[in-house]
Amino acid sequence: MCSATERVFADRHIGPNEAELAKMLTELGVESLEALAARAVPGSILDSQPGYGLEPGAAFKFPWGQSEHEVLEQLAELAGQNTTAVSMIGLGYYDTITPTVLRRSLIENPAWYTAYTPYQPEISQGRLEALLNFQTMVSDLSGQEIANASMLDEATAAAEAMTLLRRASKNKSDRIVVDADLFPQTRAVLETRAEPLGIELVEADLALGEEGLPPGDFFGVVLQQFGASGKRLPVKEIVAAAHGREALVAVGTDLLAATLVTPPGELGAEVCYGSAQRFGVPLGFGGPHAGFLATKQAHARQLPGRLVGVSTDADGHAAYRLALQTREQHIRRERATSNICTAQVLLAVLAAMYASYHGPDGLKAIARRAHGHAAAIAAALGEALVHDTFFDTVLARVPGQAAAVVAAAKLGGVNLRLVDADHVAVSCDEATTDDHVATVLQAFGLVAAEPRAQAEIADRTSPYLAHPSFNRYHSETAMLRYLRELSDKDIALDRSMIPLGSCTMKLNAAAEMEPISYAGFARIHPFAPETDTVGYRKMIKGLEAELAFITGYHSVSLQPNAGSQGELAGLLAIRAYHRSRGDEHRDVCLIPSSAHGTNAASAVMAGMRVVVVGCRENGDIDLDDLRAKLASHGDKLAAIMITYPSTHGVYEAAVTELCGLVHDAGGQVYIDGANLNALVGLARPGHFGGDVSHLNLHKTFCIPHGGGGPGVGPVAVGEHLAPFLPGHPLRDGLGGGGPVSAAPFGSASILPISWAYIQLMGFSGLRRATLTAIASANYLARKLDQHFPVLFTGAGGFVAHECILDLRQITKETGVTAEDVAKRLADYGFHAPTLSFPVSGTLMVEPTESESLEELDAFVAAMVAIKGEIDQVAKGVWSAEDSPLRGAPHTARAVTADSWDRKYSRQVAAYPKIASASPRPKVWPGAARIDGVAGDRNLVCACPPVESYAE
Ligand SMILES: *Cc1c(COP(=O)(O)O)cnc(C)c1O
Repeated sequence: MCSATERVFADRHIGPNEAELAKMLTELGVESLEALAARAVPGSILDSQPGYGLEPGAAFKFPWGQSEHEVLEQLAELAGQNTTAVSMIGLGYYDTITPTVLRRSLIENPAWYTAYTPYQPEISQGRLEALLNFQTMVSDLSGQEIANASMLDEATAAAEAMTLLRRASKNKSDRIVVDADLFPQTRAVLETRAEPLGIELVEADLALGEEGLPPGDFFGVVLQQFGASGKRLPVKEIVAAAHGREALVAVGTDLLAATLVTPPGELGAEVCYGSAQRFGVPLGFGGPHAGFLATKQAHARQLPGRLVGVSTDADGHAAYRLALQTREQHIRRERATSNICTAQVLLAVLAAMYASYHGPDGLKAIARRAHGHAAAIAAALGEALVHDTFFDTVLARVPGQAAAVVAAAKLGGVNLRLVDADHVAVSCDEATTDDHVATVLQAFGLVAAEPRAQAEIADRTSPYLAHPSFNRYHSETAMLRYLRELSDKDIALDRSMIPLGSCTMKLNAAAEMEPISYAGFARIHPFAPETDTVGYRKMIKGLEAELAFITGYHSVSLQPNAGSQGELAGLLAIRAYHRSRGDEHRDVCLIPSSAHGTNAASAVMAGMRVVVVGCRENGDIDLDDLRAKLASHGDKLAAIMITYPSTHGVYEAAVTELCGLVHDAGGQVYIDGANLNALVGLARPGHFGGDVSHLNLHKTFCIPHGGGGPGVGPVAVGEHLAPFLPGHPLRDGLGGGGPVSAAPFGSASILPISWAYIQLMGFSGLRRATLTAIASANYLARKLDQHFPVLFTGAGGFVAHECILDLRQITKETGVTAEDVAKRLADYGFHAPTLSFPVSGTLMVEPTESESLEELDAFVAAMVAIKGEIDQVAKGVWSAEDSPLRGAPHTARAVTADSWDRKYSRQVAAYPKIASASPRPKVWPGAARIDGVAGDRNLVCACPPVESYAE
């Protein structure tokens, strides 16, 4: 059976080999993948000309699959076309030195980067502990009581702070005061997010203190402790004055500065927000970086995003899990106050580990050094210094000379910030050296001067990072082992398939990952001059064109840094389009009842009213209900938001008809592209009726999930919406809409992953991947249906790329729940499928194309074995309560304990029999079943005493 052809990349990416695939297709009763496509995918959407620019004379040539070697060479060349200057531009992005042990053992380690969001806490204790460290670090440094993990970037964190203040404030004004010295990108994102919600930004010069506050009512105030100019603001005075006017305050906080200065949380601010980038996370041309949001305990339930909390497991041991899940957008839907879903977990973990590695003293030393270098520049500037209360950034007045100074520094390899014709700003950071300072002074035509007497900024008296997590791992050996200890507790893609429906946990190939560590991609400031970013922009343009081609749309913006942000950008484009035509009244967004929670949340954030469209018994959108809703909302209709294939995992045949109905009613069609893994190379949403889609590059295009982020959620639009794509205040040539991310190209430094995937696979490889994903999902559906009925199928009895297993009847008859099955799978060494989405009491399974037949069969065997256990419950051998299903998952500590009083054996608990050809590696869950409710009742979201966990 050994063929003599050399393997191409697609053969490595795609799990089943030819022989395996043939077996699977036989099971499905089709002769070939093409025959499967013809049967499973509605003819009305199938691409009639899937030529992809391969036909002679085509204007656009889609890449043909290339070898890893070739693609890596091209990426090295692109990285080489970028210039890694010394970045002293500032504005919220600072060079930093990633400790090598964290690069090799964390960000380049698949045990960390291939993990999923820790919704199954028992097999996620490692990253949950790391995230708890992040929360502790942020709340300690900012002087707040509670912090989340994490936000998408600093500017969106500020926007979330704004809406949190509005919810929490007693003052019902629609106005919020924003300081004039905010980072320009923060200010611009606040504007994007405020306008649809009817919030008015009022600019003020808060450097004046109380005097600076405008007359009239306002519900909140947003300022930075250190402004864009570097100047320190009188936070305490402003907070007191704002409180006197019944307004709440959010303060942009620099975590490094906070090691020296009294943090805003101690000065009475309700919220601290910011970025943890400078804690070891490369600049990366703008991202990904972890944003943060911290507040008082009293506002804990208002805090958006994910929050890790401490609870106990069934054996009485302390354990971590995501807290307050009921306030998350997937449950609150149109009542949600934020749409954030995928966050920045990997980067939050990196920042927390950076703090653990340096410890409180090390961080303070780094802060002192950065401040010292800034002070040296300030001293030399003398009269040219604009303000003398700074941390790391100084502002110089050089009338008429600013451009010349910046150019001179550039000749010396240093990028400074040109503020205007008369001003230059210089930011120092961890990577700044005496040589850099000398180059800067030379550019100004200055010589070093004796430091002059200046206000001592180090006025912080409270301790921070006293917890052992930040004091135990200062040696490389200790850190190395800590990272291994934690990741050993988790199931990531390096141990098992992760069959999470809707999340598309496919291979993240090493060749795709490697380039993100290239200095030419990692060490580029988002606002670096154009001449420094030639390679980046070439790669970005190419990726945009390829994604536009794959989706059948006109234009793509890569700015949104998660699917949720792509949704918002797309809906804002629809809103702007209607307004440009005088249709201000179009504000109704139709959303099917089965939609992902972010859809409704994004619609609300875009200023739309959500109207739910029902689904029929077979899971399809109810077109009669749609017609009724279209009739009753008439010319108020703005858009419909559907997912295709549906979140039920089905290609709805009526999609083209549905799009036609909405268009006839004057509405726009938003197609959520999270399920694009079922379409790439087969059908294009821009051709079968969509006006706009977002994609999830962290699903379909191989960016790893990182344990809950990063992500990239590009938004793709038809020509009529292109003028309304996101823009950016610091970069021309993007769309005309407001920015939805802090950086012009969002999380630019992970785009090489998707770029590499497309070049490696080429058109035929991508198409084969899609077809294989469909075949694998249908294979699982066939094999499992007799044990756990598949809830929905399309025409011909086929599903798309995922299937929903219905456990509700089983639960009714035996008491065994879908959650029990999900937890029990961990005992068998598998990560659970998606639990209770989109239908409560079900499991949604998505194998992706990357899993071999052997792995699929092992999963089936585990599920069949679990069904056998359920049958025992049905027969009365065990009650559901006393069964290994409810007892799952079983920890090593539990099964090796001296006492064992369960109704089943230790072997059944930990090494259950599975009819699989090869034994699976045993993965020991880090915790037994965790009690979420108890943890929510007594909310603890910072590091607990470690002793409680290490007995
Ligand atoms: C994953 C997903 C989203 C949200 O994407 P994030 O990147 O997590 O914000 C939206 N819709 C669907 C159907 C999804 O599966």
